[in-house]
Amino acid sequence: MKELIRRAAEDLAAAGNVAALTGAGISVESGIPPFRGKGGLWERFDPMEFAHIDALMRDPVKVWKILVKKMKEPLDRAKPNDGHKGLAKLEAQGKLKTIITQNMDGLHQAAGNTDVIEYHGTFAWQRCMDCHKKYETRKVDISEIPPRCECGGILRPDIIFFDELIPAEAMWRSRQAATDCDLMLVVGTSAVVQPAAMIPVIAKDSGAKIVEINPERTPLTNKISDYLIMGGAGEVLNGIVAALEKI
Ligand SMILES: [Zn+2]
Repeated sequence: MKELIRRAAEDLAAAGNVAALTGAGISVESGIPPFRGKGGLWERFDPMEFAHIDALMRDPVKVWKILVKKMKEPLDRAKPNDGHKGLAKLEAQGKLKTIITQNMDGLHQAAGNTDVIEYHGTFAWQRCMDCHKKYETRKVDISEIPPRCECGGILRPDIIFFDELIPAEAMWRSRQAATDCDLMLVVGTSAVVQPAAMIPVIAKDSGAKIVEINPERTPLTNKISDYLIMGGAGEVLNGIVAALEKI
């Protein structure tokens, strides 16, 4: 792993424009449960019953009970881990420009990154389904479920539910970041969920190097990625930041 960490630091040192694509794997160390895969929420809960916009419309109490337990409570407790902090340091070092994340936990911003495209929206904000007023999630009163706006409308998280469209601006900006970068870090995601899965492909087609940081091989490995640094995001990014400081 050491050799690859040094290689990544050298590639970062040579790159002028770096972007990162992140997914659930980077937030696991902060106690945020993943949705997909082994141990994921969707093993126990049918996403069509809890994460579909129709489900929220049909039974907001049922969906909100799960949202509080599985999202609000873990997110209220979560703090950025070494993975998030590593990416924040790469921005502070003038290397990393933009993060495209599939996560909804706001932890990249909490770590200090300033340009974060939230592909699937954010749970840090709620909005009224009637008047669209926005509320910061941590200030929302959840003593009664579902939480309501001052107008009486039901609040919904500012996330993308199943069958909702990715915001056009997030799509457009992600494509732009992927096209413009000359190195893309893919961290904690196997990038199999469309349309986010297209982002490393766009970067690769535009001539960028793709450096993958994941605990195991993914469909990107040896196809889209130039190389995989196998390990946890925090451990690997700590190593890269330290190696980059020495260059
Ligand atoms: Zn309202």
